[in-house]
Amino acid sequence: MVNNMSSSVENDYTRCYIAIGSNLADPVSQAKEAITALQTLTASRFIAVSSLYASKPMGPQEQPDYINAVACVDTRLTPIQLLDALQHIENEQGRVRKEHWGARTLDLDILLCGDEVMSTPRLTVPHYGMKVREFVLYPLAEIAPQLQLPCGQILSELLEECPRNDLTIFQNLE
Ligand code: ATP
Ligand code: MG
Ligand code: MG
Repeated sequence: MVNNMSSSVENDYTRCYIAIGSNLADPVSQAKEAITALQTLTASRFIAVSSLYASKPMGPQEQPDYINAVACVDTRLTPIQLLDALQHIENEQGRVRKEHWGARTLDLDILLCGDEVMSTPRLTVPHYGMKVREFVLYPLAEIAPQLQLPCGQILSELLEECPRNDLTIFQNLE
């Protein structure tokens, strides 16, 4: 269990939460490979990862089910540097962008970077969809149940308004 006490966990490290999603080419292995990559992320310390969850696709329905998880890292990277690093990992694992919300080997989305609030053409933090996605909120709550968003909303309240839908715990990684 971790907290997001402040954006500066220790001097110049920022506590960040990253959503992991995959539904192609052995999604469980893709998620585990991504977790391994996050464990060795440059200028960062790996803090925690949730269980692996199984979920139904969002958007186009004629695609395989998803494996999802949320990881926590403390990093000295800027948010844009973190996005670059995550997109590098996505590309290494064969990510191809075709249809919006279409099937993918790996999706790594930045949910939160400390208390940072930013919106640029390449990066919006907090992630615009995180407050209503069960496959983000439930894994996030597993590793950071006391979390408060930069806007002041608390995670436990968001969860109360977010149905689990078909989300199930697929595998505990501990
Ligand atoms: P969604 O963002 O709705 O989950 P997606 O993850 O499938 O959809 P991608 O194709 O992975 O979308 O990303 C599209 C673009 O979103 C990326 O090129 C990136 O520049 C931008 N982006 C904006 N904010 C974020 C963020 N917080 N995390 C990751 N990418 C982001
Ligand atoms: Mg996404
Ligand atoms: Mg993405």
